[in-house]
Amino acid sequence: MTLPPLNISFSGGRTSGYMTKKLMDKYRGQREFIVVFANTGMEHEKTLDFVHNCDRHFGFNTVWVEAVVHHGQRKSSGHKVVTYETASRNGEPFEDYIKKYGIPNVAFPSCTRELKLNAMNSYVQSRGYDIREIPTAIGIRADEKRRVRKDASDYNIVYPLVDEFPTDKQDVLDWWEDQEFDLGIEEFEGNCKGCFKKSIRKQFMQIAKDPSVFDWHRRMEQRYRTVGLQYGERVFFRGNKDTNALFAEYAALGGSIPRNVVDPYENGGCSESCEFLPTDDTPAPRAWTIWDLFGVAV
Ligand code: SF4
Repeated sequence: MTLPPLNISFSGGRTSGYMTKKLMDKYRGQREFIVVFANTGMEHEKTLDFVHNCDRHFGFNTVWVEAVVHHGQRKSSGHKVVTYETASRNGEPFEDYIKKYGIPNVAFPSCTRELKLNAMNSYVQSRGYDIREIPTAIGIRADEKRRVRKDASDYNIVYPLVDEFPTDKQDVLDWWEDQEFDLGIEEFEGNCKGCFKKSIRKQFMQIAKDPSVFDWHRRMEQRYRTVGLQYGERVFFRGNKDTNALFAEYAALGGSIPRNVVDPYENGGCSESCEFLPTDDTPAPRAWTIWDLFGVAV
């Protein structure tokens, strides 16, 4: 018997892990689950361990994909399937994306589209499905409702933790406390290491814990700051700061991070999940177009 497919976007965070488990428990035997984790090569090693552990303990059977960028063509990213063992860990897929599109930042946030959305779409298509024709579950919680897209139904996006199993952050944390394993990283370390969407305060916390995370960003800025659509050179961080400027600002604090460090961009933070579609609170300095969602990249 052919079961109706349900695509699950597993970000490697606690919320989407919890959502995947709830969906599998409820719909086992009724749905064909397609659980996809898109690795950018900049995920924390413990995020990779977490995804792997979810497979081992819960049987998610996650498909690990990485984006394959098409250089010299107006064609969105494809995918290749990797494993926990073979997944990139030194930013290789991300660097390949930057070679074509330039450094992502709050003005040009296309890394989610190319490294996550299009890689997942490509995989789902390889299974014979049109991503717009099958439901895709995204791990946004009831306490994050402002992030729900109003036009989600147009893209067949569902938010089970908002509608079907209303869940807030504390529910998720409480549930993971009872499991045999957990993510094991602090919130500021989630998603891509040094993700430009994180607040300045979170970047400072990362510098304090492990400044070597930013060696990669510094290297990318040295190599590719003139690549891509631009109004001037492209750098990663909020306020048009490059990595050196970020470190200088941190050094000026003398090693202490004030709780009230001012961050005018705090609302767009990539706190736990890097949604595979832009959410309604995603800062969008230029208009999102249909091409940003499903089409040909710039
Ligand atoms: S986590 Fe941040 S850097 Fe990584 S793909 Fe998402 S938006 Fe881009």
